[in-house]
Amino acid sequence: MVHDDENGRMTGSPAKRRPPVPRGPYLVVGLARSGQAAARLLAARGERTIGCDAGLPAGASRLHQAGVEVHLDTDGLELLDAAACLVKSPGVPRTAAAVAAALERGIPVLGELELAWRLLPNRFVGVTGTNGKTTVSELLGHVWRTAGKPVAVAGNVGTPLASLVGAADAAATVICECSSFQLEDVDAFAPECGVLLNIAADHLDRHPALDDYLRAKLRLFANQRSEDLCVYNGSDPAVRSASFGGRGRRIAFCRDAATSGNCQAAIAGDVIVLEGESLIGVDELSLPGPHNADNAAAAAAVAAAMGVQRAAIVAALRDFPGVPHRLERVAERDGVIYVNDSKATNVAAAAAGLRAFGAQTVRAILGGSLKGGGFVELADPVTERCIACYLIGPAAEALERDLEPAWEGGVARHRCDGIAEAVRAAAADAAPGDVVLLAPACASFDAYRDYEERGEHFRQVVATLEA
Ligand code: ADP
Repeated sequence: MVHDDENGRMTGSPAKRRPPVPRGPYLVVGLARSGQAAARLLAARGERTIGCDAGLPAGASRLHQAGVEVHLDTDGLELLDAAACLVKSPGVPRTAAAVAAALERGIPVLGELELAWRLLPNRFVGVTGTNGKTTVSELLGHVWRTAGKPVAVAGNVGTPLASLVGAADAAATVICECSSFQLEDVDAFAPECGVLLNIAADHLDRHPALDDYLRAKLRLFANQRSEDLCVYNGSDPAVRSASFGGRGRRIAFCRDAATSGNCQAAIAGDVIVLEGESLIGVDELSLPGPHNADNAAAAAAVAAAMGVQRAAIVAALRDFPGVPHRLERVAERDGVIYVNDSKATNVAAAAAGLRAFGAQTVRAILGGSLKGGGFVELADPVTERCIACYLIGPAAEALERDLEPAWEGGVARHRCDGIAEAVRAAAADAAPGDVVLLAPACASFDAYRDYEERGEHFRQVVATLEA
């Protein structure tokens, strides 16, 4: 159990000892943000570090200045001879030529998460799940800061874990968003607290079966010891029936206190109950929608189990500002609200976004590039919540087919040539009280570099609408 000392710092069992990092020279494969941070870190330790990327990622060539030998536009296979250890970015699949060859030759392959964890002395909270990782990680950071405790949040938004090495306060708790791509590479990684938020179909293009995807996520818990915490969603059937492994103490958070059994944190009607006592009303939470009540319950369960006082948890849940591109309210014009949920890149996230608003008020912009899996599960939330859908990108045809029950149920549909046309059409149709929601349920690569660029485009188009 963890307690606070009088300085408000976490006390209790110290962070675990880590195995040493295998010896170099190192070949870092994949030079996007996390790969660059890993390469910089290794070079700064005085190690010979070679970096390669199959493309030309922004900023990679500048690694020269940090002492990294950079090779772009190559699969890196010929560079492997010079390396004693391969460091793999989460964006690179294990089937990539250099990685597959290293595995075959018995050269140690370390993921960026594993590498950084071995070099950080901090206590760790690892957050995984299909949806909500960034939201819950940032929310936990906000809870810790509100409680006056040192914290560092790392993950998809901004800060690669490797960049914390040598920079983060050793007393800080590291809150780390862990994707399945990062977790498929872990070896000894064992966070003091692991959180599994939910499991839905996503990334079936890289994880061939849902089982593999779940197995990757469960690596978060595999090496935990009995003094560690394993926090999971007791209301998600795929999570509840999973065999977690590891020896971490199980702590559930639940959507429905009445049906989900023994939960540390639960949503009971319109309040969140923590350790048997009312914590906060759902309508007092700063973020909208039932899924964000789940996220709040998860964060409350983690924070309480790690010794944060209830008052700080409540205050933080009330004023957490949210994360850009996740149900982000970008404007209100003529009584119409414009919401950017560009990060809703899969069906489950888009469905949660639609369900965050009232019945029949949503004009949803759906579509983008396809990534395997259909849209049948979107038909119910669209029927319940939407007046109209504006379909864009290569996925429009599949959406039109899979959402047939919604059209039959009276939801209007329009095919549009991209976000600009869709926003203008929705704005022209909208009445006061409507929500124009970008919730694509698709990846963005048909027309954008990433979901952030797509969300920015949405924001810009909304800004140009006549007031
Ligand atoms: P991740 O980091 O796992 O991708 P984010 O916090 O960035 O998660 O949110 C991604 C998308 O999922 C957003 O559209 C957001 O509104 C939605 N979302 C957030 N939390 C949940 C949840 N608990 N269940 C379903 N969808 C969620």
